[in-house]
Amino acid sequence: MTQPGPLQGKVALVTGASRGIGRAVALRLAQAGARVGVNYRSSRQAAEAVDQAIRDAGSEALLLSADVSNASQVQAIFQELEQAWGGVDILVNNAGLTRDSLLLRMSEEDWDAVLDTNLKGAFLCSKAAARTMVRKRWGRIINISSVIGLAGNPGQANYAASKAGLLGLTRTLARELASRNITVNAVAPGFIDTAMVASLSEEAKAQVRARIPMDRFGTPDDVAAVVAFLATSEAAYVTGQVIGIDGGIAL
Ligand code: NAP
Repeated sequence: MTQPGPLQGKVALVTGASRGIGRAVALRLAQAGARVGVNYRSSRQAAEAVDQAIRDAGSEALLLSADVSNASQVQAIFQELEQAWGGVDILVNNAGLTRDSLLLRMSEEDWDAVLDTNLKGAFLCSKAAARTMVRKRWGRIINISSVIGLAGNPGQANYAASKAGLLGLTRTLARELASRNITVNAVAPGFIDTAMVASLSEEAKAQVRARIPMDRFGTPDDVAAVVAFLATSEAAYVTGQVIGIDGGIAL
């Protein structure tokens, strides 16, 4: 007889789940038994493939188009989840983007675009999710930050500020929601092999790799495994933490 997965009966929403880390997290949570909302903004075909992969594996998925920086679009997807499955138990704030340039060349638009998706998006989704989680007296919010949010990085003032901001949001929400049995944690991936890292030059990749004690880039599954653990009841007493998933680069 097969055992029920540790997330059986839970409803998860993964933002930016059409590819990369979000895709791996969505598939992993589904494998663990959760029903998964697959959010994307513009990559519909890729998101449909994730939705299909979850269904093929025998779990339930819901495709949810929304720009996480848009309050009314966020509200609409939470309503859809509420109607379909009775609201969210697990929220993974993963949607993120980069618009890199050195400070003196960074435009206001590039600053706003990164902060709006990476930080405001997490605020809007957390607020919407917390309403149902408070009602259910159970919840997990997991924010995908970055080692760049801890250490900074030339050319990424907007990205580093957004990822550091997520850590302040994590710790504050952990304090606000702890009494309702809702944990809020962040992970800080290092360099993970996705489209985001593929955009680096070969020279930049070699320089980064030389700084990673484990001598390899991470995989989306390396991140998904830790996120899935934080979503389970096993992690019930872990809150307000930042867990590095970086092959030792931050040491
Ligand atoms: P990715 O391959 O570029 O995927 C980003 C995802 O976010 C896509 O599904 C994209 O969907 C979605 N997205 C972007 N803006 C959105 C918005 N406004 N609303 C909804 N969805 C949006 O990135 P990744 O490498 O997997 O990174 C995922 C997360 O991990 C990001 O937060 C990133 O900062 C963080 N991270 C990545 C690394 C790394 O090395 N890769 C390291 C540390 C942290 P559409 O294409 O449909 O827009």
